[in-house]
Amino acid sequence: MGNFADFHARSIQDRDAFWAEQAQLVDWKVKPQQICDYSKPPFAKWFVGGETNLCHNAVDRHLAERADQPALIFVSTETDHEKTYTYRELHAEVQRMAAILQDLGVVKGDRVLIYMPMIAEAAFAMLACVRLGAVHSVVFGGFASHSLATRIEDASPKVIISADAGSRGGKVVAYKPLLDEAIALSAHKPAKVLMVDRHLADFTPAAGRDVDYATERAKHMDALVPCVWVESTHPSYTLYTSGTTGKPKGVQRDTGGYTVALAASMPYVFEGKPGGTFFCTSDIGWVVGHSYIIYGPLIGGMATILYEGLPIRPDGGIWWRLVERYKVNVMFSAPTAIRVLKKQDPALLTKYDLSSLQALFLAGEPLDEPTAKWISEGLNGKAIIDNYWQTETGWPILSICNGVEKAPSKFGSPGKAIYGYNVKLVDDQTGEELTGANQKGVLTIDGPLPPGNLQTIWGDDERFVKTYWKTVPGKLVYSTFDWAVRDEDGYFFILGRTDDVINVAGHRLGTREIEESISSHPNIAEVAVVGVADPLKGQVAMAFAIAKDTSGLTDATARLKLEGEVMKVVDTQLGAVARPSRVFFVTALPKTRSGKLLRRAIQAVAEGRDPGDLTTMDDPAALQQIVEQIKG
Ligand code: ATP
Ligand code: MG
Repeated sequence: MGNFADFHARSIQDRDAFWAEQAQLVDWKVKPQQICDYSKPPFAKWFVGGETNLCHNAVDRHLAERADQPALIFVSTETDHEKTYTYRELHAEVQRMAAILQDLGVVKGDRVLIYMPMIAEAAFAMLACVRLGAVHSVVFGGFASHSLATRIEDASPKVIISADAGSRGGKVVAYKPLLDEAIALSAHKPAKVLMVDRHLADFTPAAGRDVDYATERAKHMDALVPCVWVESTHPSYTLYTSGTTGKPKGVQRDTGGYTVALAASMPYVFEGKPGGTFFCTSDIGWVVGHSYIIYGPLIGGMATILYEGLPIRPDGGIWWRLVERYKVNVMFSAPTAIRVLKKQDPALLTKYDLSSLQALFLAGEPLDEPTAKWISEGLNGKAIIDNYWQTETGWPILSICNGVEKAPSKFGSPGKAIYGYNVKLVDDQTGEELTGANQKGVLTIDGPLPPGNLQTIWGDDERFVKTYWKTVPGKLVYSTFDWAVRDEDGYFFILGRTDDVINVAGHRLGTREIEESISSHPNIAEVAVVGVADPLKGQVAMAFAIAKDTSGLTDATARLKLEGEVMKVVDTQLGAVARPSRVFFVTALPKTRSGKLLRRAIQAVAEGRDPGDLTTMDDPAALQQIVEQIKG
């Protein structure tokens, strides 16, 4: 145990020594000659001259000590399947997959696109790619052909790995027709498609292109495929951002820096110990899934649970049943999932033995105080740790680092800047750094970004520089495009995206602040606030809320009464300037597939504009409700 402030200060002031130490947490074939090359800002190269392999560090390295310990625990409540793979078994499966990929012509540097449901073979596929030095690009299985086609075109994969189908809430979702359509739409065509046939949905293989996984696997049962040692800076994967604010960006990650960053995060941030169990409920299609379903826990010698299914099927206690059964130590989920559970019987939270569980980490979007309190109380005071990051960063920027020094959480705050991150709040108009407590500014990071962060945007260095590094006047700093304040203790509070800051008669307000305030009304389950153009005030806030109890809201008078109550809450907490001009009641809010509010689309509709590209939207009916409300 140390002192976090010193630990953080050292990571910035004595950067190379700090990260040289962390680099010892992983295996290198060739040791790095230089820790950080920042001679061409903003491009940072980590552990230059070093050679390593991500799969070696996640799997092979553990064989000596824990070959017969669980590595991958696959649980599907969709197909009623549970299977545990030990490190030895995982090693064998990954080599079989790697041998198949080699047969299909995959070599170092080739791209392999993975469009798969949450099944064990998806993990084998990712690990097999990095084993060979191939660059994987996982596309979330919920995306349909249009989103998939743009990603196929951008990544230009030699091989695509897919499956016949996924399953959601007991309903089979066929993948193959979507994949075929996407390939037809895309200008780039993969040479081969490797199909994992779960026998959920019939399909006709494309002759000469589609290859059956089970048949190929049977040929390679004893495959021995050594890891291909790659330079530390060799890309391990590309992954697209959620597309909440516009066209998704293809984030490119290195190998050495990412391995070290994840290895260090296990003890310092998550307190995950070798031999323990990590349960991350995200999806392999998202960055949280890459880092904390697959690579982080395995690099840390833990067992990791890969879960296919809903949080509420067979009932809302399923996750806690898994915690009991697999003695989960560290759990990682998203606020959106907790809000789903909040609508279930709270007794399900205490039905199982959760004594193994140390902490629940939540990330991906703002964790509002009522939700944080609900889950914290429901889990009998277990630590609930909000942490803030981006697809771009690969691991958290802000969190409590209990593995360095125990610190309390504050509701509504993801904590402090993590070691390695030189976080500054700046005034986006003047570029001036804001050092005082409770000043609102854009959350930026001074370069070099720490290990594990994006190297560039795939195939577009110029867009990387222009998008992230050129927005603060007069400075080359990385912008997160999130708006935040820091309190006197160094805890940050995210106020919303910079796009979402609204300007009401000269006052700048974060939509998040208004949402927090509205959420504190006892009958509000969820709310989205957007700024809408107003001829008088410049902009006004407009709210779209989901009521917990809708039984009394059938007539207009009751709705008006609740609207008035909500406005009063905002008046008292933030002042009349923040009061929404209208509060509309809906039953669903438009979100991305990863559960993030699509304020951009809501705002467009509220201003009577075309909402634009909606391919990452989960439920179009939710936006339609808003259209109708606005029309009155
Ligand atoms: P795009 O960049 O394509 O618009 P996106 O930003 O939604 O998509 P992600 O990288 O998945 O894509 O999301 C990162 C963003 O999510 C952060 O910039 C922030 O706005 C939000 N976020 C993540 N974690 C938290 C958190 N703990 N608290 C508040 N906001 C969070
Ligand atoms: Mg973003």
